[in-house]
Amino acid sequence: VVEVSDVYKSYFLGKEEVPILKGINFKVHAGEFLSIVGPSGSGKSTLMNLLGCLDRPTAGLVAVNGQDINKLDDNELAGLRGKEIGFIFQQFNLIPRLTAYENVMLPTYAWKKDEINYKTKAEELLKMVGLEERMKHKPSELSGGQCQRVAVARSLINNPTILLADEPTGNLDSKTSEEVMEYFRGLNRAGSTIIMITHNNELAVQTDRVITIRDGLITLDASASVFAQKLAEEQLSITEKRIC
Ligand code: ATP
Ligand code: MG
Repeated sequence: VVEVSDVYKSYFLGKEEVPILKGINFKVHAGEFLSIVGPSGSGKSTLMNLLGCLDRPTAGLVAVNGQDINKLDDNELAGLRGKEIGFIFQQFNLIPRLTAYENVMLPTYAWKKDEINYKTKAEELLKMVGLEERMKHKPSELSGGQCQRVAVARSLINNPTILLADEPTGNLDSKTSEEVMEYFRGLNRAGSTIIMITHNNELAVQTDRVITIRDGLITLDASASVFAQKLAEEQLSITEKRIC
């Protein structure tokens, strides 16, 4: 479903080139539930923006559903995003002058079809994230966690086959995080591929596979149980060092 091959990404600050991703390789197959963990600034969101067809690599291949994103023009990229991908932004990216409900409906306005069905779907999704009483509120009238829940609802409006979630539970309490995870698991069981960035190791170990990133490179790509084992070993060695 997703192929990332020898991917480099730099940002340019004035004339200075700052490398962020320094040769990333992995493939994600249909139906996988994968999490990406790593320290702040390691390049997780940069990578997610490439997977979400929001940006292009400086070098290397990013293919989504078999399509090399460097070979698609901006319109084709937008088409791929609208049809296949759900994206939860780390900063929510809600439109301030629209209500929660309108923000969830926003992607559908471009599609000009089945609007009635999407209305029900938008209401269901807002209910699912516990915002049925807040549908008419604007982002400025919602808490950070509530905005995040609107962003989660919006990402699911097109029944995405690929859900890309950048810290989807970063602003949520543990109960709501669990509910969102439960919904993701259901979506995954129904066939969607999910790639989730998280700082929360407890959530990462609930997925199938974990990729860890440090300084723009992959440091581990393993099953969640291997990741959990490594975590336990690290914890043990930290404790041992303290005892010594
Ligand atoms: P966090 O866990 O804090 O969200 P992250 O792993 O998602 O961190 P990125 O957002 O990918 O990190 O950023 C990686 C590096 O790239 C950071 O040093 C950041 O300052 C830099 N960076 C991100 N976006 C841009 C941009 N548009 N222009 C220039 N530099 C950027
Ligand atoms: Mg980030």
